[in-house]
Amino acid sequence: MGARQRFATPDGWIARGFRFEVEATSPAQPARIAQAFGGRRFAYNWALGQVKANLDARAADPTVPALAWDFYQLRKLWNQAKHQVAPWWQCSSKEAYASGIADLVAALGNWSDAKAGRRAGRRVGFPRFKARHRDRGRVRFSTGAMRLEADRRHLVLPVIGRLRAKENTRRLQRLVAKGSARVLSMTLSEHGGRLFVSVQAIVCQQPRTPSQPAGRCGVDLGIGAEWAVVAHDDDTIERIAHPAPWAQTHLQRRRVARQRSRRIVGSRGQRQANAKLAALDRRAANLRAHSVHTLTTRLTRRYGTIVVEDLDVAAMSRGMGLRAFRRTVAQAGLGRVRPTLAYKCGWAGGELVVADRWFASSKTHHGCGGYLADLRLGDRVWVCPGCGDVVDRNANAARNLRDWTGPVGDTITDRDVQRGGVAAPVPFVGDHGGQAHPDRWACEAPQDRPRVAGAADARTKPQQGRGTPKRGTGQRALTDAH
Ligand SMILES: [Zn+2]
Repeated sequence: MGARQRFATPDGWIARGFRFEVEATSPAQPARIAQAFGGRRFAYNWALGQVKANLDARAADPTVPALAWDFYQLRKLWNQAKHQVAPWWQCSSKEAYASGIADLVAALGNWSDAKAGRRAGRRVGFPRFKARHRDRGRVRFSTGAMRLEADRRHLVLPVIGRLRAKENTRRLQRLVAKGSARVLSMTLSEHGGRLFVSVQAIVCQQPRTPSQPAGRCGVDLGIGAEWAVVAHDDDTIERIAHPAPWAQTHLQRRRVARQRSRRIVGSRGQRQANAKLAALDRRAANLRAHSVHTLTTRLTRRYGTIVVEDLDVAAMSRGMGLRAFRRTVAQAGLGRVRPTLAYKCGWAGGELVVADRWFASSKTHHGCGGYLADLRLGDRVWVCPGCGDVVDRNANAARNLRDWTGPVGDTITDRDVQRGGVAAPVPFVGDHGGQAHPDRWACEAPQDRPRVAGAADARTKPQQGRGTPKRGTGQRALTDAH
């Protein structure tokens, strides 16, 4: 497999991303930006064509040498061929083509990792050729004349030139000027008609300690009336409701989407409705990100240990039949909280603890350990069978999480039996679903690609044994988590 580079962050430095919305500063720039996006896509497709041609040739004649799936190798081939296949290549920065090839190498690597079982998460398909309408415009620059201007209002990218940032770039620029941040790459991309530059940087940071290094808190996330319930170290319970604008944006979005469905395709009215819809989607995403960030920053700066549950959001949003339920899961941004906490804990000097997926934080009474087996999703309070107390579901779960200290001795075994003997927080909904891959799929990439792109060969076999375990685990994950 081609060596995929991994940049190792030096000690004392942390990797951070900064994202700025930008706009063109000259009338010629939009065309140059579009060329760069197209150039990236062209190089990606060209390199994919080389890889596929090589695989087909090797399938017909095994003595044909393998083409290495390696960035440097493919870029060298591109540089030899570009005068022939893309005589216009000088219109864009060489970085545009390099970023397309690097993305293809990453995609090929993901595919072969997934196939060999080295990669968790969703199944990854073999890279496909990108059409303009299926490829989000983006291009990454890792060398060349890229910088933040000292006026904190402009960014400079190679060939494309100066772009005006719509917000002050101070939070990054001052670090760069001081020498305590180094820019690794800048990615220009387009989302919903707007341009963004994402800056990847490493930032030198003194080790930090939270204000309560010995303190613990537990966070219970939910889709009911309360978005998050936090059990603090001093045993106060903080309840955070779903921000009201979430539901409001959703209602507006429905109305606009309905309007759009009545417009004639390609008409001005449809374009306007599309723009409205994009604006609402952007607003919804921003609102969600804001809530997630304010909560996680506040908690990581305060506590040495934060405990969350191992929510299986993918299974939650896939497993249940109700569309409205899946939508709430997605809208609540539940899946964003844990990864955000994970990296912010690293910055703040704290620790994130993820409670076992099978830990019944909702069903166990924090006071006495009484266990209610048939707690239903809608129940907000329940009566403890052990002591008869009325228990507030979310507050109790948050307290349980806060005081979680690994799988709980003897009680866990009883429950494991009910759940088919699974105790470890294995990545259950990953594509392997606990199944071994058929031998055909376990070997290394280039040799074993299906010879012909025949449907029977590529589709039917690998899917056997995939579909079944998912639904069951999804339901289970959900009922246990809550
Ligand atoms: Zn009790």
